[in-house]
Amino acid sequence: MPNKAVRLKKTVLYALTLLFALPGLTTFAHAGNPHTHGQAALNIALDTETLTLNLVSPLDNLTGFEHAPRTPEQHARARQAAELLQNADQLFIPDPGAGCTLDSVDLESAILVSSGAQGDQTAAGTPSTHVKDTGQHTHTSGHGTHDTHADVELTATFLCENASAAHFIDTTLFESFKRLQTMSVQIASPHGQSGLTLKRGTQRIALPE
Ligand SMILES: [Zn+2]
Repeated sequence: MPNKAVRLKKTVLYALTLLFALPGLTTFAHAGNPHTHGQAALNIALDTETLTLNLVSPLDNLTGFEHAPRTPEQHARARQAAELLQNADQLFIPDPGAGCTLDSVDLESAILVSSGAQGDQTAAGTPSTHVKDTGQHTHTSGHGTHDTHADVELTATFLCENASAAHFIDTTLFESFKRLQTMSVQIASPHGQSGLTLKRGTQRIALPE
């Protein structure tokens, strides 16, 4: 008889790559993203002074490929994707009532880094940007197949005068990345937790009140 545990194991491995810890939030569940093209997962955490957004997406959603760029066009797409992600305060626009300012952007993608697309925004007054060389994984064991996939993880942290006063966050993710179809969102805020699925065309993420 076939062993059902094998398939489960793959799912668990994906889940482990997505683990993400937030200080001060013990019941923060990741939205879960088993690397399905067209889908992404967004975690939003609000406390009194900070707003943290963690996006995990297949690279395919952002560039249309999941390997090192080979052609000038692919290099350009990788650079463009990295620039869009690093300008996180244009991808995510918090409710102005919360008085939030982008503080840091952390982009993890082996492919976007190796394409030379990493930002270097270290001038005074601009958010700090960190790019790490992680995120690509190859599955070769067991099935005789050789699938290479790559995820991108973006963590954007805003400092806010009153983060808990935010009623919504607007996002331009769907406009910026045409291949993105749905996004599962998990929100943890002082007003409670909620989960929702956004479809292409959505611009506003309502926060718990
Ligand atoms: Zn993939």
